[in-house]
Amino acid sequence: MAKPRLKIIPLGGLSEIGKNMMVMEYQNDIILIDAGLMFPEEEMLGVDLVLPDTSYLLEKQGRIRGIIITHGHEDHIGALPYLLAQLNAPIYSTKLTRGLISVKLKQRRVGTKAKLNVISPGSEITLGKFKIEPFSVCHSIPDSIGLIIHTPVGTIVHSGDFKLDYTPVDGKPTDLSRLAQLGTQGTLLLLSDSTYAELPGYTPSERVVGEALDRVISQAPGRVIIATFSSLVSRVQQVINSAAKYQRRVFIVGRSMTDTVRMALELGYLNAPDGILARLDELKGMPRNKIVFVVTGSQGEPTSALVRMANRDHHQVHIVPVAPAMSR
Ligand SMILES: [Zn+2]
Repeated sequence: MAKPRLKIIPLGGLSEIGKNMMVMEYQNDIILIDAGLMFPEEEMLGVDLVLPDTSYLLEKQGRIRGIIITHGHEDHIGALPYLLAQLNAPIYSTKLTRGLISVKLKQRRVGTKAKLNVISPGSEITLGKFKIEPFSVCHSIPDSIGLIIHTPVGTIVHSGDFKLDYTPVDGKPTDLSRLAQLGTQGTLLLLSDSTYAELPGYTPSERVVGEALDRVISQAPGRVIIATFSSLVSRVQQVINSAAKYQRRVFIVGRSMTDTVRMALELGYLNAPDGILARLDELKGMPRNKIVFVVTGSQGEPTSALVRMANRDHHQVHIVPVAPAMSR
């Protein structure tokens, strides 16, 4: 009989930004890592979302022991509503990531029986022949993990998306000491994912973003509109911090942004001093230089709040020329 082999099959996310999804298969056991989507490129006219091709998995459903999610970005969780509509497997993620997944499943009205389990760095789970130990990685969203996967043929390290930032917004840097320890024990394979890692130089700390926000928010004569992904919880935190410093109120615009911020506040991943967050019905009569909007649309997603504002199609927020003399 042939010796059993470990198969590692990327269904997306290799040499591209988006739709991250990896299959690991050993004998009768399959685990999946991430289930992300990709936003369409400019020439993909009429395409709303790009999903990984999961046909390989459909006939092997009964062998899928679990789906492990490294963090809550769209390119890692965005395909879940579509995948779970087709197959049922337990999901494992950290607490904030689980919160983001639940918000997403609710928005898409996906009725699924899939169990959403919480895992945390330092703990270990066993899924079939795979033993998985998450470790902390620093990324633009809190509660991100990489995975140490012990398989019958050796140890695999899957970095998840990471950044080596010694001053991250949430104060949790990548667990380099655990990685160093693994290095001495021997690792079969490292799967490493960090956008633009092949470019020389280094990425500045998120602290630099905080300084830029301070500059803009303190100096802008009118309203400030900041576009980001709704899942970029750390960025929203930076906006709140900066707005609080310069006595501006923060309006969270758009449903996905509002749902995410509410969930992150409830779980304690986002902190806002009393009275900083405002509702859109409080907007009327407020001086323009006291306002910050946080909206989706940083990548020009067609239905996002920013794109609707730019097209004069947003019913609550209208873009106007800056008139420094005007206070409202
Ligand atoms: Zn990411």
